[in-house]
Amino acid sequence: MQRHDPDVIRRVKKAAPLAQIVARHVDLSPDGSERQGRCRRPVPAVAGACAFRLNLGSGEWMCGSCAGKGDILDFVMLFDRVPFAQALHIVADAGGVRLPGAAPASGSLL
Ligand SMILES: [Zn+2]
Repeated sequence: MQRHDPDVIRRVKKAAPLAQIVARHVDLSPDGSERQGRCRRPVPAVAGACAFRLNLGSGEWMCGSCAGKGDILDFVMLFDRVPFAQALHIVADAGGVRLPGAAPASGSLL
């Protein structure tokens, strides 16, 4: 199990193209400093509407329907169904951040 430096994680999150990463799974439309849309996670109790909001300033997102929320790494883990280490790679790649000691990721999902 590889240990992840909090500074690296912070750098990866800061460089992450949030809207671009999220848009792979959620159709987003602008709403001031936020983006909103509908996430496509299946929620049996809710027909159609899944009220997703992304704050571009803080990088936090939440979905009022399927109760998902968190930062961009949580988003990738949840929507791409990958463990933390892989989510970190994906987000780092998307933001052009080179992880220390890591070979360039292959099979990027972007
Ligand atoms: Zn949702």
